[in-house]
Amino acid sequence: MKHRIVVLGAGYAGAFSAGYLARQLHSDDFEITVVNAEPDFVERLRLHQLAAGHDLPHRPLSEVFGGTDIRLRVARVISIDAEHRTVTVADGEGIDKLEYDTLVYALGSTVADHGVAGVTAHAFHVAARPSALRLRAHLDELGEDGSVLVVGGNLTAIEAVTEIAESRPGLRVSLATNGELGGWLGPKARRHLLRTFDRLGIWIHEHTAIERVEEAAAFAVDGTVFAADATVWAAGFAVHPIAAASGIEVEANGQITVDRHMRSVSHPDVYVAGDSAFVIGDNGQPMPMSCASAGFTGMQATAAIVGDLTGRKSKATALTYFGNHISLGRKDGIFQLVDSDARSKSGALCGRSAARVKAAIVGTSGWAVSRPTFGKPNHKYRLAATREHAPATAAV
Ligand SMILES: Cc1cc2nc3c(=O)[nH]c(=O)nc-3n(C[C@H](O)[C@H](O)[C@H](O)COP(=O)(O)OP(=O)(O)OC[C@H]3O[C@@H](n4cnc5c(N)ncnc54)[C@H](O)[C@@H]3O)c2cc1C
Repeated sequence: MKHRIVVLGAGYAGAFSAGYLARQLHSDDFEITVVNAEPDFVERLRLHQLAAGHDLPHRPLSEVFGGTDIRLRVARVISIDAEHRTVTVADGEGIDKLEYDTLVYALGSTVADHGVAGVTAHAFHVAARPSALRLRAHLDELGEDGSVLVVGGNLTAIEAVTEIAESRPGLRVSLATNGELGGWLGPKARRHLLRTFDRLGIWIHEHTAIERVEEAAAFAVDGTVFAADATVWAAGFAVHPIAAASGIEVEANGQITVDRHMRSVSHPDVYVAGDSAFVIGDNGQPMPMSCASAGFTGMQATAAIVGDLTGRKSKATALTYFGNHISLGRKDGIFQLVDSDARSKSGALCGRSAARVKAAIVGTSGWAVSRPTFGKPNHKYRLAATREHAPATAAV
């Protein structure tokens, strides 16, 4: 019987991991199944563009994994029984149970509502494709007249609000954040950010915590009422509660606690990659939820799986955080590098050249993920008779 590897999620981390494993592992010994709720590879990095009205490349997963030995199951993961190594999934046909020997958990994240009343019922968000499309349809209905409030002061809020303001110039667009807008940026990048908001006519409300959202308004703790035809909630990401419910050890925020090789500390046959993983990076701080982190954690998880299952020496790969590339509409951007303590450097690349860098990075990551085996399913390594987990070491 083959060793069954089930990969949950075909986003940046899951699609990369499945492809890498298919390249490395011998198909006589291993069976790789990917489970994803959507039939397409969704470029989350571009969902603010989709919401604002731009169309994205269509990448059906059946084509992404076509020609590989990877089996695709389009279904929603409902639960995991980590003790009996089963995953319960649901699709149009009903409910099914998949058995695994090794699990790769890469279900990503969604919007974090922070328990604020009315967010789920009334606010829009851009953390998943269905919600981005819902926002787009609503903006279409508003046409050239209406008001949009984006809540949040970090990367997704900045990208969403600038994209909407640029693509829908007739709308009155504002942003409310409980802190300082882009307060973590270096001085050059922050100056550029504020100039861009000014150019796009976006109103900024800093130190403004929203405590309730209704259909046509958002209410701040200090009593200010923001009339808004659309409130877009972009105040961070939260992981799905599936892992916590399965008994796999998680952090207080629901991310799965892993060792340096991305193995669950409670269930070492479960490996985690992407937003779902809580892991300390090489700078001594938790890896941020980002596409870049999904790449690094995916590389580490798959290196460990190949090592653990084939008896090869498992190497520690880098877990690096180098900075942020931020789009400010289609022709403007910021590329902010950070130092070894994750503090923004004083300089930054800003403007049209930063937008070009960002477009190149986003384009390359979408292109690479949609070619998971790069046409080279060489299936080198066989299943080892006995298996040992490599100790959790730091990268050298
Ligand atoms: C608008 C926006 C802009 C962003 N910009 C940047 C950026 O510029 N740079 C950057 O580094 N990061 C950016 N991010 C963050 C980045 O997109 C995520 O960190 C990254 O997608 C994480 O990869 P992942 O594979 O862990 O999760 P995802 O890419 O979200 O993949 C998870 C997959 O799991 C599937 N899934 C989820 N739940 C289930 C379920 N129950 N059953 C089956 N399948 C399921 C999803 O459909 C998805 O395919 C942005 C995010 C957003 C929303």
